[in-house]
Amino acid sequence: MRVVVDRSKCSSIGLCEATAPDIFQIGADGALEILIDDIPADRRIDLEQACENCPTQALSIQD
Ligand code: SF4
Repeated sequence: MRVVVDRSKCSSIGLCEATAPDIFQIGADGALEILIDDIPADRRIDLEQACENCPTQALSIQD
């Protein structure tokens, strides 16, 4: 499972990082980094929460 960020929408607020800091990280340059390419299926709830909480709807899950 992967998570994709639409960089034209992401405003680097970092709510996703607060939800799952092992997957999302705001880098020193202010850009969001996805830390895990192939995310284990047991993290789906965290990912869904991050997608729902993103204020700009920038995240999506790819199975
Ligand atoms: S919560 Fe959304 S807007 Fe904020 S850093 Fe994450 S993807 Fe970007």
